Amino acid sequence: MTNKINIENHPLISANEGVRPTYVEVNLDNIKYNFEQIKRHVGSAKIMPVLKANAYGHGLVRLALFFQELKADYLGVAVLEEGILLREKGVEIPVIVLGGILGNQVPKFLKYGLTITASSIEKLEQIQSAAEKLKVKAKVHLKVDTGMERIGVHYYNAENFIRTAFKMKNIEVEGIFSHFANSTASDLTDAKRQFARFEKVLEFIEKEKFEIPLKHISNSGAILQLPQANLDMVRPGIILYGVYPSGETRKTISVKPALTWKSRVVYFKVITKEHSVGYGSTWTAKENTRAVTVPVGYGDGYFRSMSHKAQVLINGKRYPVIGTISMDQIVVNIGNDSAYNNDEVVLLGKQKNAEITAEEMARWAGTIPYEILTNINTRVPRVYISEWK
Ligand SMILES: *Cc1c(COP(=O)(O)O)cnc(C)c1O
Repeated sequence: MTNKINIENHPLISANEGVRPTYVEVNLDNIKYNFEQIKRHVGSAKIMPVLKANAYGHGLVRLALFFQELKADYLGVAVLEEGILLREKGVEIPVIVLGGILGNQVPKFLKYGLTITASSIEKLEQIQSAAEKLKVKAKVHLKVDTGMERIGVHYYNAENFIRTAFKMKNIEVEGIFSHFANSTASDLTDAKRQFARFEKVLEFIEKEKFEIPLKHISNSGAILQLPQANLDMVRPGIILYGVYPSGETRKTISVKPALTWKSRVVYFKVITKEHSVGYGSTWTAKENTRAVTVPVGYGDGYFRSMSHKAQVLINGKRYPVIGTISMDQIVVNIGNDSAYNNDEVVLLGKQKNAEITAEEMARWAGTIPYEILTNINTRVPRVYISEWK
């Protein structure tokens, strides 16, 4: 399933097939490389690739099946629907929904064999009653809040929460976890304080002889910077996709970006001196200007806030996007150069020796790389390439 795909002949993207040429290319070899680098780094800890938000834009189902092939131990998603889709598409390894749940969702978790995040005693009761009715055991991971204040029982109330969970006949407590708020910072004081709070909870579990096989807290930032927090399992998201969580985070693991966002030139023209480009006429030609139009816009996740900042690559060279970014189209100033209909345009990623990184695009848009990747719309087809079998 990972055989090399010939891009030129791919039905979704071939310029000759009469379809829109804007697409995302995902390099599965780089994903595999990143997975293996993380595995080497964390030693005996299990790995839970985090696949929320369409696998950070890389395509949920294909990436889940790929991580299953790579023998990932667990998969993490954000919402129930993502978990159900994975089960329907043939994912058989454990899948946890990391977000908060409502009681009426529990029967679906049980039907599809998905692990539930239990984030309060009330949720435990809802899970217990649904599981009892169906005469099954629900697999849960207890969520402890050590400083994020989203979901989970506060670390200082965790003892009663854990005791209650172990009293419930139809609940199997397979895991317990927490989440870092500041693991990507260069100053790790806050992350260490959170970890110390979690360790206190783990000491209680040990002392009371509660058996919980999977204790986990580390996201990408902690995997890179706090190896003492690896515990039984780590939950990498963004570094699996080859992007570092922030400029501040120490790059203790080498990873390679896997995503390239491409399009093609669909129009060439010369903008006559004193004529303007786009909605609001925010860019006016000072002289006759050679320009091309590319069929991508904010409707694809090419943020409008990048107007007057974004650049693209054509023939391995950078060119500025001019005028306001539209929903479906952008205009690129090619200076004194030539570009022709069907020429490849790279919006994000490498072309020849030039590269636009997710970090750079995030700066143009005034956001973080996570938001750039997760916002590439599902109307943009994903294509997978690999040399590996
Ligand atoms: C998103 C998420 C992760 C992964 O975060 P990264 O910073 O992308 O590594 C891990 N755990 C939980 C609970 C998450 O929500």
